[in-house]
Amino acid sequence: MATAELEVKSLLAERINALEESSTLAMTKKARELAAQGHKVISLSVGEPDFKTPAFICEAAKKAIDDGFHGYSPVAGYPDLRKAIADKLRRDNGLTWGPENVVVSTGAKHSLANAIQVLVNPGDEVLIFAPYWVSYSEMVKLAEGKSVVVTGAFENDFKVTAEQFEAAITPRTKVVMYASPNNPTGTEYSEDELRAIGDVVARHEQVFVLADEIYEYINFTGKGHFSIGSMPEIRDRVITVNGVAKGFAMTGWRIGFIAAAKWIAEGVEKLQGQVTSGACSIAQKAATAAFNGPLDETRKMSEAYHRRRDLVVGLLREIPGFKVAMPEGAFYAFPDVSAYFGKTDGKTRINDSDDFSLWLLNEVFVATVAGSGFGAPNCIRISTAAADEALVEAVGRIKVSVAKLH
Ligand code: PMP
Ligand code: GLU
Repeated sequence: MATAELEVKSLLAERINALEESSTLAMTKKARELAAQGHKVISLSVGEPDFKTPAFICEAAKKAIDDGFHGYSPVAGYPDLRKAIADKLRRDNGLTWGPENVVVSTGAKHSLANAIQVLVNPGDEVLIFAPYWVSYSEMVKLAEGKSVVVTGAFENDFKVTAEQFEAAITPRTKVVMYASPNNPTGTEYSEDELRAIGDVVARHEQVFVLADEIYEYINFTGKGHFSIGSMPEIRDRVITVNGVAKGFAMTGWRIGFIAAAKWIAEGVEKLQGQVTSGACSIAQKAATAAFNGPLDETRKMSEAYHRRRDLVVGLLREIPGFKVAMPEGAFYAFPDVSAYFGKTDGKTRINDSDDFSLWLLNEVFVATVAGSGFGAPNCIRISTAAADEALVEAVGRIKVSVAKLH
């Protein structure tokens, strides 16, 4: 490192020096840079719907501008949005929270970070079900908590069992967090599996659950989605997180929420009141339309992801050495590529998933994300939220390139 760089680094606060860069966003940035240089990059790194936000939602945003919603919004969100969310939670999730239990934030990422800041004291243990979304462990680090990773086996579709979970609990365990459907694996925990996990929570009164349900509507099981917060015996200790990004193709609008016991919601509101204030007023009006509106377009998008899941997993399974689980939701494939670790194309040696993912980008301009940042160092993540032709082309390029490894 150059001297000037070293000096600047020493000026940054320790908490920032200790923080990892988001690997999803870092790969996306690299892919954009290569594309700007004129390379034909296929970017399957960022997990982002390739659909447009439904028109009725955009119309609500336009109306909000015309109606003059230009000022600061209430810190916890507009009352009509908080009510629309409470209604949605009752309708879809069997959760009985009122608007006063809901706090709207700038994306589900913000909601998760807020909840962790509000609940975790330095040294508290946070159990994270792995593979996990890259930002979980870093959010815990920012709160000076201790991440304890509990890994779901490939053979169990990457799911953590209730027994594994209970064995990891200690008197310092404050929170357990997971996403279902999951990013990066696409795994969906069944109702029975979540009830078994909820029974463990019921036996350990100090444990709170942070349930990330952002992929709720992208579910291929045909069995619907189960929200652990609907279990009455643990309801007061479950913080449900969701938003509009995935189900309504609204990643850039930045609206997410928590629904939780009032004292937790008030804690989040207090934090938000000092750090960001209320979320974007126009986006809130759009989100209100989304939660009150029909789900037809959401279902159509989910059907497209389902079809692409079949397409991509089928193609990936034809690549020698790739082990590919069948995702049941979200829009990712997560092949185990460790059969290629230790191999070389004569120029570059692939030691791990970081090398593999970077090599794919540099060799064949396909952007993926290494599994290491997700707590799954044998895998790479491929987003299936792209056009069929791009997906076929990308997996074809991967197949041709790995054939050069020996
Ligand atoms: N949780 C998971 C599991 C995600 O994949 C994402 C998407 N990045 C988020 C939360 C954050 O969503 P949002 O865009 O609403 O911040
Ligand atoms: N959820 C997306 C992903 O995992 C968005 C990028 C991010 O915020 O990390 O790629």
